[in-house]
Amino acid sequence: MTTTSAPLTRADRRLLALAAAAERRLVDPMAGFVDLAGLRTAVGELTEAFAPLGRVQHTVAVKACGLAPVLRFLADLGVDAEVASPGETAVAEAAGVRGPRLVLDSPAKTTGELAHALAEGTAVNADNFQELARLDRLVGATPPRSVLGVRINPQVGAGRIGDTSTATAASKFGIPLRDPGNRGLLLEAFACRPWLTRLHVHVGSQGCPPELMADGVAAAHELAEQINAEAGYQQVTSIDLGGGLPVDFTSDAAGPTFAGYVATLLARVPALADGRYSYVTEFGRSLLAKNGFLVSTVEYTKVAGGRHIAVTHAGAQVAARTVLQPEHWPLRIGAFDATGTPKTGPAVPQDIAGPLCFAGDLLARERPLPLLEPGDLVVAHDTGAYYFGAHYAYNTLPRPAVHGFTVTGRGEVEFTPIRRAQTLAELVADAGGEHVGSLRA
Ligand SMILES: *Cc1c(COP(=O)(O)O)cnc(C)c1O
Repeated sequence: MTTTSAPLTRADRRLLALAAAAERRLVDPMAGFVDLAGLRTAVGELTEAFAPLGRVQHTVAVKACGLAPVLRFLADLGVDAEVASPGETAVAEAAGVRGPRLVLDSPAKTTGELAHALAEGTAVNADNFQELARLDRLVGATPPRSVLGVRINPQVGAGRIGDTSTATAASKFGIPLRDPGNRGLLLEAFACRPWLTRLHVHVGSQGCPPELMADGVAAAHELAEQINAEAGYQQVTSIDLGGGLPVDFTSDAAGPTFAGYVATLLARVPALADGRYSYVTEFGRSLLAKNGFLVSTVEYTKVAGGRHIAVTHAGAQVAARTVLQPEHWPLRIGAFDATGTPKTGPAVPQDIAGPLCFAGDLLARERPLPLLEPGDLVVAHDTGAYYFGAHYAYNTLPRPAVHGFTVTGRGEVEFTPIRRAQTLAELVADAGGEHVGSLRA
């Protein structure tokens, strides 16, 4: 590899990483890869885009990629974490992201989780009025160290994908702002709780256009203004804007940018930049998806009913959404030979099958690709969020190893372990192995 002055593109880095991974036998039989330079660039773009809004705490939605070294890496770049379960909280804390660097969102927080967050000074967005009543008891008479807020559902409507649209009329998240009586109840809730200082809104993930997200933010800003007017002072001092910027899964192109989204927000609510509020963001997919990819070996190939099928190790355990809802979550698939070199040849429609024991376990159907052979590598692109980081335990398949990588100025690829593959002993332990013999027939 000769030294070049032009910066490598994401596609360049991926090609180099693939060849190096093949040579070092890291795909055994499957592995996830995280492009650390890409992640660093994404964080830079995020930070720069939101600068016009003043004080902004950026967090990463841990559910998009709950891998401790990734959270640590992002934290070192200034990105805190948004958590939504005791497990996510524990992983973030183990990564050293804790206390006020965490934001706790979940519709099902237990009293224990709330008490832990309050003790740690972790921010909490209450999901509903019952949770507020619990917070009353936990907060008691002393002013909390945590920033406490309320998640509203602005009920601005659904995006393209029902499952990831959280601001429909009947969504399970937040307090529905437009339901009769709720605006009054929210004003009252803030009036009698001076420690409530934040509003939270998250309109959805993937499939929600930025304009719809901006409608949600506008509703939160308007309510904040109303609460503050009634309080006679600025009680609400911050707005948590949530995440949800969609990703382009059809090409290596950037897709919607953070800068474009901020422009949309400011066009809708110019006052967001007037310096009176600070903000929180909680992006997941838009930070991570395009900076990760999954590679699997092709184990076998066959023809069935005239259809070419390549049997790989990448199925629903690492790509649940794509397999179960292929119409909503198509992935780009790349075909490479065993050395990680792109395959050439006429495109033949092929099913890319996973290893799971149900017929629908297909990563792609009738995808035109150079004809795959055993030993080849297939790449599932844009899988850095919600794929290898969000395992589904069907068929007791192990979680694959995940490697971070960087490319040096001389074009050499350096891999850093992020997670090792789950071992058979760990799978047995997860299957209740310690209790073998506890059931007496
Ligand atoms: C899932 C989620 C996010 C992240 O959404 P992305 O689409 O991955 O950016 C942020 N906030 C909340 C409350 C969420 O549930």
